[in-house]
Amino acid sequence: MNYCDEYSLGDKQIEKAPTDIITTLGMVMRSKGLNQRDLSELNGWPTSRTNKIMKGRQNANSKDCRIMARSLGCVIRNRPYGNNGNGDIELLYKVERFGNLFMHLKNCPKEEDERVITEFELPISIVNLLRIEATDFVISSNIGRTMAYNHEEQESIDGGIAITFEQRHIFTGPDKLCFGMLISPERDFVILGIWYFTDKWDEESLEMRFCYKHILDVNDLETKEYDDFAENNTKWFPEKYKFGEIDSLVYPMQEIENAEFIEGEMIHLFTEYCSLIRDALGVDIAENTAGAYGKGFSTLDLYNGLVGNQPIPFNVKQEVLERAKRRCEIDAEHVTFEGIDGKPYMEVVPLIPIITETMILFGQSLNSEANAVCLCPMCAAKLRNGCRDDREDMFVQLYRNQREKLRKMDINVSLTQLLSWNANDLKGVL
Ligand SMILES: [Zn+2]
Repeated sequence: MNYCDEYSLGDKQIEKAPTDIITTLGMVMRSKGLNQRDLSELNGWPTSRTNKIMKGRQNANSKDCRIMARSLGCVIRNRPYGNNGNGDIELLYKVERFGNLFMHLKNCPKEEDERVITEFELPISIVNLLRIEATDFVISSNIGRTMAYNHEEQESIDGGIAITFEQRHIFTGPDKLCFGMLISPERDFVILGIWYFTDKWDEESLEMRFCYKHILDVNDLETKEYDDFAENNTKWFPEKYKFGEIDSLVYPMQEIENAEFIEGEMIHLFTEYCSLIRDALGVDIAENTAGAYGKGFSTLDLYNGLVGNQPIPFNVKQEVLERAKRRCEIDAEHVTFEGIDGKPYMEVVPLIPIITETMILFGQSLNSEANAVCLCPMCAAKLRNGCRDDREDMFVQLYRNQREKLRKMDINVSLTQLLSWNANDLKGVL
C-alpha cells in the first residue's frame, strides 16, 4: 500500500465522534507518556480545546479526531467490516516513514493535504526516525503562517515550511539551540540546519554563535551557500534563521532522489545537534543510564531523571488531586486561582525527587500517590525556591503525612535523606 492509498481512507465524515474513539485517543496519549498539554502542542490547539474534547464537553468531528490521531502517530480508518457501534472507524498505529513523506511532499507540492502532512505527520515521522521522544522536544512546525507551537515567536514565513526541534529540558530562556528543516515556498529547496535563537543580537550572543560554530568546526566559508541563499530569498526567509545559523546544508529538491538520502542527512544533522549539546552544555542527549534499566523506566524517564525533570504520571496526579480534594497539603485554607479546566489550580509535586539515583533505589514505586503531594502554586514555588528554613519545615510536614504510605511501598527514607535529595544548591546548573 503506498502512502496515497493509506491517506485517502479514513475520510468518513462524522458530526460527533463516538465517545469510545475519544477514550481510545486518550489512552493512546497516556500510553505515550503525553498529557493534554503535550498533545495540544503537537496538534497546535489551545489546551482548553483538547481538554474539553477529552472530557466530552465539546463535540469532536471526524476531522478533529484525525488531527488528534495523527499527532499521536496513528491514523483513523474506516472499519472494513461490520459495525460494533463505534461509528465504523478504527485507530491504527501508523507512522509513515519520514523519507516517504518527504518524497511525497516533493512530488505533490500543492496538494490539499500538505498542511496536515507538514504540521502533524512530518514532525512525528522525524521523531520516529531519530528514535527520540516527542515529549523531550518542543516541536515547531508551520507552513507559511504564524508559528503554531511557539507563541513567543510570531513569525510568518510566507508559504515556506519550517519544522524545528528544541530540547525541551535544556532551554528554558529565550536562548535556544534548535535543529530542523526549512522548505522554500516554491518547494524547490530544502535546508537542513542547526540554529541558535535568541531574543537579542548583541556582542554576547554573537560570541555564543561563534562558539557554537567553533564546537562543530564549521567555518563561514562552508556555509556561504546558506548565507547567499538567505540573501537571495529575503522575501520569505525568516530573519532569525538567517542570523542564528550554526550549521546548514542547502539542497535543490531535484537533487534528492530517494527517501534514504534525506533520512541519512536528517540523522547526520541530529548527531551534530547531540554533539553540540554535549560539548556546549555537558548533557548527553543520547546517553542512557544502565543502572535504572529493568526497573520499568523508559529511555525518556531515564533522561528526565538525569536532568531532574521527570514528570509525575497523569493518573498519579489525578489520584493525588482527589486525595487532597484540590486543597493545599501545607494548609487547606490556602487560596489559588481557577485553572483552565475550571477547577482550582493545584500543583502535584514529588516528595522524593525522581532522579537517577532514587529511580535506581526505588523503581516505579516513586511514581505513586504515596510519593506525591498536592500544593497551592505559592507553596509549590516556595518548596522549590524558598529559603532553607522554610523549605525544611515544609518537607518535614509533608514527610510526616506521607511516611506511613511510603513505608507500605517499601520506601524507607530518613528525613535527612529526603532533605539532601531535595537540596536545591545544584539547581540551575543545567
Ligand atoms: Zn499552600
